[in-house]
Amino acid sequence: MSQRNGNGFGAPPPIPAKKYNFKRGPMLVYWEVTIACDLACQHCRASAQPWRHPQELTREEGYRLLDQLAEFEPKPHIVFTGGDPLKHPDLFPWIRRAVDMGFLVAVTPAGTPLLTQEVIRRFKDEGVWMLSLSLDGSTPERHDAVRLVPGSFKRTVNAIRWALDAGLPVQVNSLVAAMTYDDIPNIGRLLVDLGVQRWSVFFLVPVGRGKILGAVTPEQTERLLEWLYEFSKTAPFAIKTTEAHHYRRVALQKATAEGNQRKLQSLRRGFGIRDGSGILFISHIGEITPAGFLPIVTGNVRTDHVVRVYREHPLFVALRDPDQYKGKCGVCEYRHVCGGSRAQAYAYTGDPLESDPTCVYVPTKLAEEARSR
Ligand code: SF4
Repeated sequence: MSQRNGNGFGAPPPIPAKKYNFKRGPMLVYWEVTIACDLACQHCRASAQPWRHPQELTREEGYRLLDQLAEFEPKPHIVFTGGDPLKHPDLFPWIRRAVDMGFLVAVTPAGTPLLTQEVIRRFKDEGVWMLSLSLDGSTPERHDAVRLVPGSFKRTVNAIRWALDAGLPVQVNSLVAAMTYDDIPNIGRLLVDLGVQRWSVFFLVPVGRGKILGAVTPEQTERLLEWLYEFSKTAPFAIKTTEAHHYRRVALQKATAEGNQRKLQSLRRGFGIRDGSGILFISHIGEITPAGFLPIVTGNVRTDHVVRVYREHPLFVALRDPDQYKGKCGVCEYRHVCGGSRAQAYAYTGDPLESDPTCVYVPTKLAEEARSR
């Protein structure tokens, strides 16, 4: 089924999350088509730079990757990311092929002069389902201080408006780090005014250039997650967190205490999805990893079959089994719905199965053991 011109504005994905069995296949495949980018963001996971890598996948290799991904049932959503995917000359041929094969396609371009109104209209015409853009400040000064390129805020806000005018749904990604923490509520309110469809609040993982940006403390994280829950009650868009899966725990605790059945139902949709469990990442040179922020290479699409790697590689198998997690995440009563960020665990401890150190929660089992001592 081609989705070209086929998605209604703001339409939900045609395949609900509950249809996916994360042991058999991912729901989201992030394909980093290039690390080239004209921005110089302080937190860039890809440590992007202006030039393309000479060993990036060729057009034909990209088509072969799509053929392999099509063997997952149901088909995953593909997110073309970077760097700036617009820096890759084969982006549009790959999008066209993916849409024609029936994949749901999103694109995460950078807010640079390459992202014109014409390009956005082309995304819509090619059948892209959602545009994903980064806004890390509520004002030009605050956003551009993170992106390090003057004018980036204005370009991004223009791109959001152009996409919405063209009927292309928009997800906005916002970084939570020491320098953005106090501005996150202002960004949320700005997004209400802009009328976007989804907000992904991304908690800094200290990898790539992000190592030099300060992460927030676990206590600050908890307070922000609580604020997000309250904000989500009135926000006219969906809110998700990236690399702070314990938002599910916070929201579950609060919704249960309030007896908020509607909220509980909507929360259940995202349960269990995390790096390597429903998520798969392909790097610009074809490396297969559980996520962009969990850069442990488990194979390469040039030599390995991506379906086999996802289903059988010991790391992927372990990441999908919260009973194998160590420390408090391994005994936490929320481990199957939350499980913690495996990327945060890896970044801080070097072990992707360790506890997520960004979560303040003390699991019931540990609290009871401490009381009985
Ligand atoms: S302890 Fe681990 S599994 Fe439990 S809520 Fe925190 S991050 Fe999630």
